[in-house]
Amino acid sequence: MKSMLVDLHSHTTFSDGHSSHTEMYQAAQDKGIAIYGITDHLCFHDNFWTTPKHRFPEMRNIFREMKLHANGTKLLFGMEVDYVLGCEQEVVRLKEENQWDYIIGSVHYIGDWNIDSNAEDWVGKDVNATYAQYYNLLEKMVESRLYHIVGHFDLPKKYGFHATEDFTPKVEAIGRKIKEANMAYEINTAGRIKVCNELYPTPSIVRQLFELGVDVTLGSDAHHRDNVGQFFDEALSLLHEVGYRRVCYFEKGEKRYLDI
Ligand SMILES: [Zn+2]
Ligand SMILES: [Zn+2]
Repeated sequence: MKSMLVDLHSHTTFSDGHSSHTEMYQAAQDKGIAIYGITDHLCFHDNFWTTPKHRFPEMRNIFREMKLHANGTKLLFGMEVDYVLGCEQEVVRLKEENQWDYIIGSVHYIGDWNIDSNAEDWVGKDVNATYAQYYNLLEKMVESRLYHIVGHFDLPKKYGFHATEDFTPKVEAIGRKIKEANMAYEINTAGRIKVCNELYPTPSIVRQLFELGVDVTLGSDAHHRDNVGQFFDEALSLLHEVGYRRVCYFEKGEKRYLDI
């Protein structure tokens, strides 16, 4: 079973990770990951964790070289690309320029507020209103049809601030659009090492998306080689329990499946 795993979400020292491309790939091989994707950050805000623009050619070369020598574990070249209002044309241009296998669409910013870098920023905020703004952006990201995978679906829970309002109808609307766009969402296991201490998204959302027939994939969101494939046993049992029997991945933009 282990050899059938996919891990499509991870970072290197090109963004905010602590291991090199080679070290991350080696870890994926060691853990028996069958399909492994590296997805450094691409943000539209200036911050310390985005991949610097001048390093993109070097990044493309590393992947070209590593793909030639990939052994056992298939290596995919992805990127975790932010979604902000009005970024669409730039995303089109960057996809053309980089020829990624796939991109994960993530909402890390509401306006200029980076919602997942500082717990204190949440103190005094209207939590329900923040979730509403977040989900509106996530929906627009899906509607753009430029991305392949929805990253950490319920990220606002990271620091343990949970909405009291019922977002089930909104999640359903987004789920239907993910399916229509032939995209997928990820079980992102990094939530287990955050304050919220649970997978993204929460099991009730996974159940809801399964019932809508939305495809799923797996991502450890590892920022260090030790975290590649973290908590995948837990993620797989959740998927099985809910009814999923396969996960997907994207190669050159084409969706493919693996039985789990
Ligand atoms: Zn992210
Ligand atoms: Zn990430």
